[in-house]
Formats: sequence, C-alpha cells, structure tokens
Amino acid sequence: MARINDNYLKLAAGYLFPEIGRRVKAFTDANPTAKVIRMGIGDVTEPLPPACIAALHKATDELAVRSSFRGYGPEQGYDFLREAIAKNDYQSRKCDISANEIFVSDGSKCDVGNILDIFGADNKIAIQDPVYPVYVDTNVMVGRTGVAAANGRYPGLVYLPCTEENGFSPELPSEKVDLIYLCYPNNPTGTVASRAALTKWVEYALANEAIILFDAAYEAYITEEGIPHSIYEIPGARECAIEFRSFSKTAGFTGVRCAFTVIPTALMARTADGSKKDVHSLWNRRHCTKFNGVSYPVQRAAEAVYSAEGAKQVKSTIAFYLENAKLLREGIHKAGVEVFGGINAPYIWLKTPHDLKSWDFFDLLLKQSHLVGTPGSGFGSCGEGYFRLSAFNSRENTIEAVDRFQKLT
Ligand SMILES: *Cc1c(COP(=O)(O)O)cnc(C)c1O
Repeated sequence: MARINDNYLKLAAGYLFPEIGRRVKAFTDANPTAKVIRMGIGDVTEPLPPACIAALHKATDELAVRSSFRGYGPEQGYDFLREAIAKNDYQSRKCDISANEIFVSDGSKCDVGNILDIFGADNKIAIQDPVYPVYVDTNVMVGRTGVAAANGRYPGLVYLPCTEENGFSPELPSEKVDLIYLCYPNNPTGTVASRAALTKWVEYALANEAIILFDAAYEAYITEEGIPHSIYEIPGARECAIEFRSFSKTAGFTGVRCAFTVIPTALMARTADGSKKDVHSLWNRRHCTKFNGVSYPVQRAAEAVYSAEGAKQVKSTIAFYLENAKLLREGIHKAGVEVFGGINAPYIWLKTPHDLKSWDFFDLLLKQSHLVGTPGSGFGSCGEGYFRLSAFNSRENTIEAVDRFQKLT
C-alpha cells in the first residue's frame, strides 16, 4: 500500500477557521434570529476597483480574437506587469529591484509555502509568535518539526515572541538561525516594524548568512511616515531577503488571485560542499517546472492597479477599511479594552477583558454580542489572551459592532 507523508499527521487537528465556523454554526442553529456580525476571517468585502474590471474585460475581449489571442505566457509573468511592479513598488521608493527579479504568481500563500522547496532540510527556522499560521504549517508538512507540544509549539522551530512588552517587534534569537519569517504590517497584531527594527534583522541576517522571508501582504495599509514599505529600503537587504507581496488585500484580488515574490539576483545561499549559489536561479527553475503562469486577464487587471485611476481607487478602498479600523480601535478603547494595531493594518489586536482565555472570550462575544472574531491563541501561544478583529466589513456593521462591544459586560 502507498505511504502518506506522515508529517501531515503532526498538524494540529482543529485548524483555526474550521473551529470558528463550527462554533458559529452551533450558535446560529440554536439562535436563528440572531444577527451575527463576522469580523473573523481576513477577506476583503469591497468590490474590485473599476480600473481592474475594465482591464479584465478588455483582456478577455483580446482572447476572443485570433490576432490578439494569447496562450501560455512567460512563467515569471508578463513584462508589462513585472516592469510596473519594479517601477511603482520599488524604484519609486529607491529600492534597487528590477523587473527580472520579480516572479508573478497566483498567491502569496502558495509562494510562502512553495519557497521551502528550494531550501535544504537542515535549515534552522525562526517564526514570529503569534503569526499567519501558513509559515508554521508548511514547515511541519515538509518535515522540519517534531510533534506539537500541548501549547501548540513544534519542536524544531525557533519561536520569536511578539508581545506587548517588546511592542510586537521580536528580539533577535539567542541561537543561530538560517531562515527568518517576518510579516509586516503584521497579521494578526496589526503592528508595523520601524526602520531600526528591520535594520537590526538585516544586520543579523548578513552577519549569520541567514535569509529573511519578508511577507508584506499589507504594505498598502501603511499610513505613518517613516515606516518602511519594503525590506529593500534597508541597506544590505538585496543580499539577505526575499519579499512576498500580494494584490489580495491591496486591490481586493482574494478571489481573482495575483501576487509576486521578489528574489534579488544578489541573494546567495550555501550548497552542500560549502560553495555559494544564487537563490534566484533556483526559484526560477522551480517556478518554471511547477507553475505555468497567471492568466493574462488577471495580469492585465493587476497592471491596472498602477494606472492613475487604479491607484486612486485602491487608495480610496484602503482608506475606507482603515476608517473602519479607526472606529473599532477608538470605540473599543473607549469601552476600556486595550487595543493595538489598526493604524497601518486592517486588523485590531485586543487584550481580552478580565484576562479571559482567547477562546473563552470568543464564546462570550458570540453569545452576548453576536460578534465573531479570531482567538489570538490560534496564531501562536503568545496570542493567548488576545483577540483579532478585522476591519474588512461594511461601515454599518462596523458601527454596530462597536456599539455592541460597548454594551458588553
Ligand atoms: C492574506 C495574506 C496573504 C495573501 O495571500 P494570497 O494567497 O496572496 O491571497 C499573505 N500573507 C499574509 C500574512 C496574509 O494575511
């Protein structure tokens, strides 16, 4: 009989979002008239920018005509999109990144998981706690961990606690690590990393020949001056960092699917015999072997994000979500609850009242206020006693949620 990859059996059984779904369903089955407001899952709610819709229609019409029909495109993405990304997201911020260093894909979630293909099994991995669960789970799947302990932590990973005390910006690890996942603006805490904090990580990576895997899915939500939008704003990052970006939260592409990964040609890692090998060519090989490119209409829609109208429309939708975040942050703070994030990110991270455990607060909020959020403990053991609320919602629901929160006893 065929054998499974036994590493999958190590994955913590009750994955966060199915468990939330189960509890909400049990509640709504028992209380069918309750108007439940869902602020749990991190999915956008506003429609696509009109500039993207126009580009999708136009590109689809091109495919209907023999003379402008396109089949397989370049696996790495069309030049029109790679050039627009390099110019608008990087060169405009004085980051030395060129179009050939950009790999267009159908999602950052896939890229973040797939990147492990090109790194050896004996790398030491450091991961923020709490954080986007994909980093941990993909490392479990490829066999880099043991079996999870009672607190959900896997032996074999180096956890970087992000706490109120350190401003959700972790200390450098005390042991030497090789791959470091950093997510800023952060999901779930909604906090950002200062230039000084990112410089500290780049200097560590350069000194230890480590590689930073920088997830900047929420870059477009940065509102405060002086906060780096890209790891490549930090001198030396070309030699030690890979950056993941996505159109999902930027332009509402969660259902359309388009993202990109940046691998500078200067980024090196060691081979078994100790010589240096560039990472760019390995990822290029992997990408071309296992991926056949993002569809042409979707890449045209992504390109439209950088047009004058597209940029304006994207900005206005993000401002809408950030206004929701502000209402949540200020309204919940007024209710006497400690809140973090929500200024440069669409997430509010709150400390549960009366030191409740995350899941106990989840149940209380659902039963008393008919509100659904995400228990902080689902993002890592340091998230215990915290709770995430998302600003991806209508204004009406956001205002109603704040009102219900303030009546919570
Ligand atoms: C939503 C999100 C992504 C984006 O994933 P896609 O697959 O591009 O939709 C990546 N990283 C984090 C932390 C996210 O929250």
